[in-house]
Amino acid sequence: MAAITNVEAFQVAWAGDKPGPRSSFVRITTDDGIQGYGECTPMHGGLHVLGIIANNLAPALVGKDPLDHAVVLDTLYHRFIKLGPEGSLTAAIAALDIALWDIKGKLLGQPVYKLLGGAWRTEIPFYTSLGQNAQRAVDDVVRAVEKRLKRDSPAAVKIRFDGDRTVLDHDIPGDIAKARAVRKLVGDGFMLGFDANNGYSVGGAIKVGRALEDLGYAWFEEPVQHYYVEAMGEVARRLDIVVTAGEQTYTMQGVVDLIDAGIKVIQCDPLKMGGITGLAQCIALAFAHGVEIVPHQTQPTIGHAANLHVNAIKMHATKPMEWNDPEERDTALMQTIMRTPWRMRNGRFQLPSGPGLGIEIDSDRLGKRIRPVETEGN
Ligand code: CA
Repeated sequence: MAAITNVEAFQVAWAGDKPGPRSSFVRITTDDGIQGYGECTPMHGGLHVLGIIANNLAPALVGKDPLDHAVVLDTLYHRFIKLGPEGSLTAAIAALDIALWDIKGKLLGQPVYKLLGGAWRTEIPFYTSLGQNAQRAVDDVVRAVEKRLKRDSPAAVKIRFDGDRTVLDHDIPGDIAKARAVRKLVGDGFMLGFDANNGYSVGGAIKVGRALEDLGYAWFEEPVQHYYVEAMGEVARRLDIVVTAGEQTYTMQGVVDLIDAGIKVIQCDPLKMGGITGLAQCIALAFAHGVEIVPHQTQPTIGHAANLHVNAIKMHATKPMEWNDPEERDTALMQTIMRTPWRMRNGRFQLPSGPGLGIEIDSDRLGKRIRPVETEGN
């Protein structure tokens, strides 16, 4: 039996000591020297999540068999449930789960997707997720989309609005004008998604949704506030366009609520809820109800690797996987910690076939960027 000897939770700084985006990783080491990497949601640099890992979960993992990961993590989930299953605790479990799958694959000499039953596809189409469009003028939205099309040749593009969440229906005519301009740019037949980032009332969402139907958009993401599950379902039931939601859902029980409300495409995030194990469970749950999982995922290194394996093992895949590359982040810089950075070809990513997650982390390069989180007692 292998045993876990060390669990490290740390931020990764991309702009030196200057303020800037930080990633949040875990690294688990076993007694035979195998190391697995995991990642959690980067909200606020992942500090809250990393704190739970460092202070509460890591000490309980030392000495455990990494192959018992589901039992170990479910035990910890229930032991610390009052830290909040809706967010930080499930993201902490997710990071650890991804790292333990990485170890499991390395122990057995197999890629994660093989251990989960095999891949339905080894070339995985992706869509470019382009944010901050509420703040752009129509022409600037078109220019931003054009730039991404040239650079990445994605299979689809999603325009996100990222507006002020405390204001609903702020500029419906403007939003529709942007959707129309992007359709004009890409031509009929190119797959487009529209992400409202929870910006509409039910009435506003119906109006925008009807316009998106006319413009041939493939999906309408999170039209209303995520906590109004019934309202999200009402919008989905009244519109013909596919309404998607779930990136702010942290439990399988929450996924059941979305399905019951009428959502047909669920976007749970492997870095926020349950990691690879959690997503595999959600895929089974969705399959049982005739709905589809299209994961939300925004991180370009370990998170992307985990997401590739998840997207490979699901049978039904009517939508491409997410590839998020915000302007403010330097994805190329982030990928310098990987010995083989991602390559996109014809709107697709190649599924990694090496053991575990199938990516090799350059520990020297990563080491220079590590910013440890403080633990209690330090
Ligand atoms: Ca979204």
